[in-house]
Amino acid sequence: MRRKLVAGNWKMHGSLAENQTRLTALAGANLVSEQVQVAVFPTYPYLGQCRSVLGDSGIEFGAQNVSEYAMGAYTGEVSAEMQKDFGCSQVIIGHSERRAIYGESDQVIAQKFVAAQSAYLVPVLCVGETLEQREQGETQTVVAEQIEAVIAVAGIEAFASAIIAYEPVWAIGTGKTATPEQAQEVHQAIRQQLAAHNEQIAGKIQILYGGSVKPDNAAEIFAQPDVDGALVGGASLAAEDFIQICQAAG
Ligand code: PEP
Repeated sequence: MRRKLVAGNWKMHGSLAENQTRLTALAGANLVSEQVQVAVFPTYPYLGQCRSVLGDSGIEFGAQNVSEYAMGAYTGEVSAEMQKDFGCSQVIIGHSERRAIYGESDQVIAQKFVAAQSAYLVPVLCVGETLEQREQGETQTVVAEQIEAVIAVAGIEAFASAIIAYEPVWAIGTGKTATPEQAQEVHQAIRQQLAAHNEQIAGKIQILYGGSVKPDNAAEIFAQPDVDGALVGGASLAAEDFIQICQAAG
């Protein structure tokens, strides 16, 4: 049985005061169990706050991006080793906002994936199609290419300690959720793609769904056999909502 992971992507939101309230609520809600893993992804300055407030709650945390370089003259960047130093265990790689707004290519994303793993961070690799690509029937090709680009650089064995988040771009922050069937179809295709390289890794990897997951749709999405949790944006900013989504995974 794969453990479900509920991950909160806070994007560029939060403040010391807001985070304190939210993190305290999460840490006190007893969310982590044998079946459910929980992680939050604040912006860089708040990683230390996560470490101190989350304490021994079992809730993991990580950053929303990482440099592809280990160290050096890269102004404004943060390395995987630095994130590890602050107690991060995972890092989001290749979110569609990074791809679209900051022009991150599959190649750069693959380098970031490798950089994360070299510091023993688990990359949460985001993939997904735009609305136009879905309407043209290209969903599975687009997603497969995004994953294959990382396999080509990192190797399939690297996916033994990685997580994939399928996030249809048209469902992110729009209130439009993929139906449970649409999510399952893509998740199954991703697992089959990985199985063609290595069946054992395909069977074990957690594949999260992301795109307007809320307390009222989480349970039906989690009920799909190839959906192993969610990457949650908007609803992760309200502690009550995020707690309910975590509970739906248990
Ligand atoms: C995301 O940004 O990863 C995301 C899924 O956002 P939302 O839940 O707000 O659609």
